Amino acid sequence: MHMTNKGTEATKADPESRKIDPLTDDWRWQLRNSIKTLEGVEEFLGIRFDPNERVLLERTLEKFPLSVTPYYLSLVETEDFRNDPVFKQAVPCADELIVQEHDMADPLAEDTDSPVPMVTHRYPDRVLLRIGNTCSMYCRHCTRKRTVGDTDAAPMPGDIEAALDYIRSTESVRDVLLSGGDPLMLSDSRLDQILTALDEIEHVEVVRLGTRMPTVLPQRITEDLCKMLATHHPLWLNTHFNHPNEITPASKAALRRLADAGLPLGNQSVLLAGVNDCPRIMRRLVERLVANRVRPYYLYQCDLSEGLSHFRTPVSKGIEIIENLIGHTSGFAVPRYVIDAPHGGGKIPVMPNCIVSWAPDRVVLRNYEGVICAYQEPVEYDRTQCGQECATCDLTGPPSPPRTINGVAGLLHDNNDTDALVPEDNERHNRRDNEA
Ligand code: SF4
Repeated sequence: MHMTNKGTEATKADPESRKIDPLTDDWRWQLRNSIKTLEGVEEFLGIRFDPNERVLLERTLEKFPLSVTPYYLSLVETEDFRNDPVFKQAVPCADELIVQEHDMADPLAEDTDSPVPMVTHRYPDRVLLRIGNTCSMYCRHCTRKRTVGDTDAAPMPGDIEAALDYIRSTESVRDVLLSGGDPLMLSDSRLDQILTALDEIEHVEVVRLGTRMPTVLPQRITEDLCKMLATHHPLWLNTHFNHPNEITPASKAALRRLADAGLPLGNQSVLLAGVNDCPRIMRRLVERLVANRVRPYYLYQCDLSEGLSHFRTPVSKGIEIIENLIGHTSGFAVPRYVIDAPHGGGKIPVMPNCIVSWAPDRVVLRNYEGVICAYQEPVEYDRTQCGQECATCDLTGPPSPPRTINGVAGLLHDNNDTDALVPEDNERHNRRDNEA
C-alpha cells in the first residue's frame, strides 16, 4: 500500500512484515515528513474521522500539538485503528480536553524545583537538564505536555550555558539526566559539545540520556551518533517502549547499535489504559526488551498531568501486572512500578507485598505461587553501626563522603536522635505548642 501525506513522500509500512520503505531510513527525511495535521493522519492511514469528532480533535490540537514520524505511524494496524496502541499514543483524542479536579499542569513540580532555567534539581546528587523542548513525536500521554512543542518554553540563548554553570558550581551533583523534549533532536555536534562540557566537570560521575528515539524514530540512532556517544562513557540511556508492537526490525537494529557502543540500556514504560494495561501484553514487552539487551527499569503510574485522565488506570492494575511478572519471568525483566509523587515528591515504588508476617526470629513470606514459607533470621548478628566515620569503621573500603540522611532512612539511622517525622501543620503538635 502506498499513500502520501500532505505534500510529503511518506509511505505506509506493510503491517504484516513491519518492513519500512527504504526511503524512511533517513532520519532527517522522517522529521521533514512528520505528520502534523488530522488530514495528514487520514491521508497516511487511509481513514476518516467523524465530522463531530473532528471539531473536538482540532480543539485538542490547539492545546497539544500533533507530530508523528511516518515510521511510527506506519506501525498502526488500520483495520482496528481506534484500538491500536500506536494510534492511541500518537493521534489526539477528544478526551484530552477533559481536565479533572486533581489534574495539574506541572504535577511533578519540575518548574518549582528549578534553580535555573532548564534544570530541575530535586534529589541532592542528581539533576535533570532539559536541553530542548522538541521531540520527533508528541506523545499524547506526555507528562510534559505543558512545554514540549511550545516555542515559548524552548531554551533561550545562554540557558544551556547557565545550566552547565549551575552544575559546575554545585558539587553535590554526581548524576546528570539529559532530557527534553528529546535530547537526540540536537545535532550530533551540539550534543557532543554538551556531553564534553559535562565530562569536564570532575564531580559529575555519570550522565544519562532519556530518549524515545529508538521507539519513534530509530533511524536517528546512526552509526555516527553511536560512535560519538561511545566517547562519553560512562553514559547510560533510558528509552520508552510501551507496547510490544513498537519492537520492530528497525527499533531492534537501533538498540543493537546503542548496546554495541557500550551504553547500558534501560526502559521506562508508562501504564496506559487501553494501550498496555494487560499483564500478558506487559510480559511480552519486557521479555522482548531483555532479548534486545534493554533492562525494564520503571513502569510509571500515569501522572496527574492535564489531559491524561483517559489514560489513567487504578494503581491496583499496576500491582496486578507486577504480580504477574515477579517469579513468572526473569527477575531482571521486572520493572519497578512507581508513582511519581505529585508536588515533586519523587518516585515512590509501589510493589506487591510479599511479607506475610514477622516475629523477632523469623519472617514469613509468600512466593509467586502462593507458597508461604518462614525465613529463619540469624540467631546472632553483630550489628554494624554507621556513624558516617569510615576512617574508624571496622568495615574496610574507600571512605564515602558524609551524606545527609533524612526521611524514613533517617529514623533508621544509628546517629540520629529523631524518632518521629511530624508534618508541619500537625494539629495535635500545634495544640501542644500553643498550650506551652
Ligand atoms: S518523547 Fe518524551 S518528552 Fe517527547 S512527547 Fe514523548 S513522552 Fe514527551
